[in-house]
Amino acid sequence: MPLHNVIIIGSGPAGLTAALYSARANLKPLVIEGLEAGGQLMLTTKVENWPGFRDGIMGPELMDEMRVQAERFGAEIIRGHVTSVNLRSQPFSVRTSDAEYTSRAIIIATGASARLLGLPSERGLLGHGVSTCATCDGYFFRGKPIAVVGGGDSAMEEAIFLTRFASHVIVVHRRDTLRASKIMQDKAFANPKISFEWNSDVEEITDLGKGEVTGMVLRNNKTGARKEVPVEGVFVAIGHTPNAALFKDQIELDANGYIVTHMGARTSVRGVFACGDVQDHVYRQAITAAGTGCMAAIDAEHYLDELPQHLGEPQVQAADL
Ligand code: NAP
Repeated sequence: MPLHNVIIIGSGPAGLTAALYSARANLKPLVIEGLEAGGQLMLTTKVENWPGFRDGIMGPELMDEMRVQAERFGAEIIRGHVTSVNLRSQPFSVRTSDAEYTSRAIIIATGASARLLGLPSERGLLGHGVSTCATCDGYFFRGKPIAVVGGGDSAMEEAIFLTRFASHVIVVHRRDTLRASKIMQDKAFANPKISFEWNSDVEEITDLGKGEVTGMVLRNNKTGARKEVPVEGVFVAIGHTPNAALFKDQIELDANGYIVTHMGARTSVRGVFACGDVQDHVYRQAITAAGTGCMAAIDAEHYLDELPQHLGEPQVQAADL
């Protein structure tokens, strides 16, 4: 089993930027793509805030460019989903469903995933009228009434975007005030195609039996009153969960499950670095993810420069998990 200098887990803007920088530092990084190769930008259409593209660039195209650029400098990018890691001893080990890899440094760039309400009907109808990505799926709801669940910036952004397609958008929020920024609130309130259901919890999305969305059962959490609201699509926009469960007992996470980084991209384990949305609940932008990917690669390079040569050699075997 070859010993790698650095393994990068994840292939969104953070992981691929870390790959580019560590490849250019001649570290020959191994990138393990993960289940959602390319990350969240693969689920978007046009990206208009990536500097350098005055007319914007399609998300998947941007990720493809990043991948090819990293490969050009020697990054090896493989398909695979990491199922466990051992960060307790050098060399670190990373297991996928069909192989095991060892490395002297690890860069975690596993990103974050959309949060769901947790209803069986929601999961069952995901991709059949329930969506977590307005930019991906909005087009399918031309002329139809739909709902957006959530009261933050994402929910307002999605609701406003979806008015391009939908006949009407109902925002369902569990409180009577929005969390979204004032400017997004103003835009949503001013949009004649958007209405609000306040203090409302989605109790059920119908109709799982039919395999399509026909409506929602809302429960007013102040009065307890229930009502059925006919819609043909439900967009869940209630935030994201960092993909850090794999590392839970081995590196420090904050109260919300994000990896804690300090002094750049360092985690609580020497030689393990984190970048992108898995450690950032504030900015969550492709460009900031890429920036922290660069930081992680530079930090890993410095770490490897200082690592005593005997460490990371195969005779120091990682204990089995
Ligand atoms: P967020 O700010 O955490 O908002 C999540 C919303 O979903 C909140 O209104 C929350 O309700 C609601 N929610 C959470 N869990 C729920 C549940 N189980 N059931 C029902 N409702 C639930 O997440 P976000 O909107 O994705 O934004 C994340 C960050 O990205 C924020 O900092 C935001 O400003 C930023 N962002 C910015 C833009 C922009 O500027 N264009 C666009 C998107 C995101 P409560 O309010 O009751 O907690």
